[in-house]
Amino acid sequence: MARYTGASCKLCRREGQKLFLKGERCYGNKCAISRRAYAPGQHGAQRKKLSEYGLQLREKQKAKRFYGLLESQFRKYFEMASRKKGITGELLLQILETRLDNVVYRMGFATTRAEARQLVTHGHFEVNGKRVNIPSYLVKVNDAISVSEKSRKSVRFKEILDVTGSKVVPKWLEVDQENLTGKVVALPTREDIDLQVQEHLIVELYSK
Ligand code: SF4
Repeated sequence: MARYTGASCKLCRREGQKLFLKGERCYGNKCAISRRAYAPGQHGAQRKKLSEYGLQLREKQKAKRFYGLLESQFRKYFEMASRKKGITGELLLQILETRLDNVVYRMGFATTRAEARQLVTHGHFEVNGKRVNIPSYLVKVNDAISVSEKSRKSVRFKEILDVTGSKVVPKWLEVDQENLTGKVVALPTREDIDLQVQEHLIVELYSK
C-alpha cells in the first residue's frame, strides 16, 4: 500500500503542531517542533495570513498526516462518514480512530501508527482470534484484539511495551499488557480523540 516516506518532523512543522509521528522522540527535547516552531523551507519562518480555503486545507492535511493516510484513503473515509447519520466531522474522526493500526497504537502495542501499520501488515495481530493483516480494518465494539500467539514471545513487543507501558489508554479501549490483549469497549467520542483539529473545516472543504 502506498504511504508517505518523507521526513515526519517536516509534517508537524508544516501544521504547526505535534502530530506524534516518531514515538518516544516526540516527548523529548529533540522534537523538531520544540526546536524550530515554524514551517519548513526558505520562507517557512514568515507568517502568512491564510485564506478560508487555506485554513480548511491545513485542517484536512493535519488529520490526514496524524493518521498517516494518503488523500484517496482519507477522502474515502470522508465519504463513508457523510453517508452516516450524525455530525460528519465527528463521524470521520471516529472512523479513523477505529482503524486497526490506530487501535494497536492506542493500546500501546506499537510506538507509532507507522509501526502499528507495519506490525499489522506482517501478521502479528488477531481480531477475535483470527489473524488480520489489513491496517485499515475497522474494529467494532466488543472486538478482541491480541498479539498472535507466535509473536508474543518476540523481544520486539517487550521493547515496545518498555516505551509505551506508561501511556494512557483511551477509555473506549481496555488493555491487558501482560497478555498482550485488548478489547474495544465502546466507540470513541470526540472527547476521546486527542487530535487538535477543527473537523468542521474538513467537511466544508470536501463539501465544495
Ligand atoms: Fe512531530 Fe516532534 Fe514527533 Fe518530529 S519529534 S514527529 S516534530 S512531534
